[in-house]
Amino acid sequence: MMKTDVVIIGAGASGMLAAIRSAELDLKVLVLEKMSQPGRKLLITGKGRCNITNSAEIKDFITQVYPDGRFLYPAFKAFFNDDIISLLEECGVETILERGGRYFPKSEKAADVVEALLKKAKEVGVKFKCNTRVNEILSDGKRIIGVEYVENGKTEIIDTAKVIVCSGGKSYPGTGSTGDGYHLAAKVGHTIEKLFPVLVPLVTKEDYCSNMQGLTLKNINAGLYIDDKLVKEEFGDLMFAHYGLSGPVILTLSRDAVFALESKSKIKIIVDFKPALDYEKLDIRILRDINEHGKMKVANLFKLWLPQKAIPVFLDILEIDAEKPAHQISADERRHIIKCLKSFELNIIGHRGFKEAVVTSGGVSLDEVNPKTMESKVVSGLYFAGEVLNLDANTGGYNLQIAFSTGWLAGNSV
Ligand SMILES: Cc1cc2nc3c(=O)[nH]c(=O)nc-3n(C[C@H](O)[C@H](O)[C@H](O)COP(=O)(O)OP(=O)(O)OC[C@H]3O[C@@H](n4cnc5c(N)ncnc54)[C@H](O)[C@@H]3O)c2cc1C
Repeated sequence: MMKTDVVIIGAGASGMLAAIRSAELDLKVLVLEKMSQPGRKLLITGKGRCNITNSAEIKDFITQVYPDGRFLYPAFKAFFNDDIISLLEECGVETILERGGRYFPKSEKAADVVEALLKKAKEVGVKFKCNTRVNEILSDGKRIIGVEYVENGKTEIIDTAKVIVCSGGKSYPGTGSTGDGYHLAAKVGHTIEKLFPVLVPLVTKEDYCSNMQGLTLKNINAGLYIDDKLVKEEFGDLMFAHYGLSGPVILTLSRDAVFALESKSKIKIIVDFKPALDYEKLDIRILRDINEHGKMKVANLFKLWLPQKAIPVFLDILEIDAEKPAHQISADERRHIIKCLKSFELNIIGHRGFKEAVVTSGGVSLDEVNPKTMESKVVSGLYFAGEVLNLDANTGGYNLQIAFSTGWLAGNSV
């Protein structure tokens, strides 16, 4: 039977940091990865550019984390944004700081981050075994005694006293993160907080979104209303899809929407197509355009205000004759146009699934993990890091930093 000091389940962001740190401490480390190569999810982060981390200070950083970022204080104190940047720069990956405190590799290639971490891990002696899926964590009821895995259809056992579960969440299962860690943890007695896909596209009641499928609106403002109360506003880009809404603004609003859907609340997204102009200024602009282009067909006049794909939808909602000349637009119609441009209402009736969610909310209960070590309070010698924990965060590099920090701390603690 094979024997090692530490087994790490999963070669993602947290697994690689856990492996590097524990091998630096002279432990014999074996990483088991079920996919054919490590870091599959890392490769697609930040649209292939990898938003490595965020420059926010710890006190601000933790406000971006749910359900309670305070759990991360010890992990962030031990290894934070400057540490991952230094580690990557040591490995030859230069970084750049962009809007919103977002760090990316200067090469804009997530693959460079994966390669650097792998190179570092191999330098410090970490062994990787790919195409190897962990089936079960073995314990004697109190402490870890090994893991059972399947490789080429054959079931094997490794003798070890330390296991770090870095198996990720359930989102984007094509990357290997299929939620195995939750089953592994539950089987040895851990509580799994209910799982939800978050940072996820939203489904609208209105089917006219499908007519605008593929349209990206830049620099719009969107407000999330739950039971008619504004709970969050975001500025940025929004995309229409055949089922409803996607894009950065929607992903950021989605967490609150997913939970409100769960509690059967009434949810609306109200889009402001012209956030730079208030109602009064927009009215002046529209009046001016109508006066200047009085003979222009309404359908053409709308091109001054909206992208082409949105025009038939607007004209349908407004019930304005697209063929009539602009000067025939009535004052009532004008008011209606302004209302639609400033306050375009969409009712949210659902969300997309884990396949399209950037992260998973829920997971291994934080009450059962020691935040100072990442060790299980249920089974000794068992550790957790990354998305398998009941932690998730907004977009902006926060999720990867959670994985790097908790991975490093778990690796340091074994
Ligand atoms: C499209 C997309 C873009 C993203 N962009 C960003 C971004 O730019 N910045 C950011 O901060 N966050 C981003 N995230 C989130 C971030 O990628 C994750 O939060 C982070 O990768 C979690 O790291 P992890 O180590 O916990 O899990 P993962 O990186 O998911 O790694 C888990 C690994 O465990 C392996 N595994 C699972 N089960 C088993 C098993 N039974 N046996 C062996 N191996 C197993 C998996 O194959 C996988 O390789 C993005 C997510 C997605 C889906």
